[in-house]
Amino acid sequence: MRFLMDKDKIISLLDGTADDWLFGEALRLRNQTIGDKVYLRGLIELSNRCRKNCFYCGIRCDNHNVERYELTKEQVVTAAKYALEHGYGSVVLQAGEQQSNRFTDFVTDLLSEIKELSQGKLGITLSLGEQSEATYEKWFAAGAHRYLLRIESSSEDVYKRIHPEDHSFATRLGCLSSLKEIGYQVGTGVMIGLPEQTTESLADDLLFLKNFDVDMCGMGPYIEHPDAPLGKSQTPLEERFRLALRMISLLRLLMPTINIASTTALQAINPLGREMGIAAGANIIMPNITPSFLRANYKLYNNKPLSDIDLSGFDVAYNEWGDSRHYALRSN
Ligand code: SAM
Ligand code: SF4
Repeated sequence: MRFLMDKDKIISLLDGTADDWLFGEALRLRNQTIGDKVYLRGLIELSNRCRKNCFYCGIRCDNHNVERYELTKEQVVTAAKYALEHGYGSVVLQAGEQQSNRFTDFVTDLLSEIKELSQGKLGITLSLGEQSEATYEKWFAAGAHRYLLRIESSSEDVYKRIHPEDHSFATRLGCLSSLKEIGYQVGTGVMIGLPEQTTESLADDLLFLKNFDVDMCGMGPYIEHPDAPLGKSQTPLEERFRLALRMISLLRLLMPTINIASTTALQAINPLGREMGIAAGANIIMPNITPSFLRANYKLYNNKPLSDIDLSGFDVAYNEWGDSRHYALRSN
């Protein structure tokens, strides 16, 4: 079943006019189309070094209150083995944006290593920011098959307000198109409850995701970081949380077969946030498997959870990649 919703209807649902109906329908539709299982992505935060200066982010390069690190190959391999041994179907390699040849080669090497050690049993997603097409191609050839790059906001005006002048909306869009062209399963997403963001702008974000025909989405509430200049949102945290759940449900209704993550930022606001994201129609969780002594250095926002997630509340599909059904359908 397809839900046809115009922008006014989306705005009214974002305003919370029918939460019980919305959450229930999204869950029912997810279970009917892609099933009720939750898929795991073990998140490995490779490095907090970043060349960018996004106004909202705690690891932006101008924040000198952060101790910078880069995992060694051995540490990444240990984390990947942990994922494999615990039945995680996939890992995500995430980092601040780095564009050196050294970094490109490091990641290429890690991809081959993870492919070999897992004998192809671990799916691999990358979330390493904007790169040249040649780099994306190199990583795809080395075994990465999914890429997450959030557009952050589909409104160019909002994008400009939350980034310095030398960060380009057009480049970000270009990267997303290149990733699709190369053959990746492409994931993008937005932050919810940014300063001066309206529900109309969020409705446009949902329509952007639909029109771009994304395979995966990771979106979550914006959470202030004391060393990041973007500052305070007028939307109370609890309302940002509800808005994020509504965004998940609405996206599920608009795109029934994509993968949608229940993100860590939800858990930062409510201890049961990730469970509630799954109940609102998401189907992916990304437990952090970065070596625990380094997690405090990858602090994107206030109150980011540092401990391991308890998986007992989820109906997990262990040992499965859990690829986006939408991708399979659009590639056939
Ligand atoms: N550097 C890569 C990039 O920007 O695509 C990947 C890592 S970056 C830390 C991952 C995501 O963290 C960003 O896309 C952004 O949406 C999110 N993020 C950063 N600061 C945040 C904040 N203060 N609140 C919520 N999410 C935040
Ligand atoms: Fe760097 Fe990504 Fe943070 Fe922007 S959001 S400062 S690119 S890590």
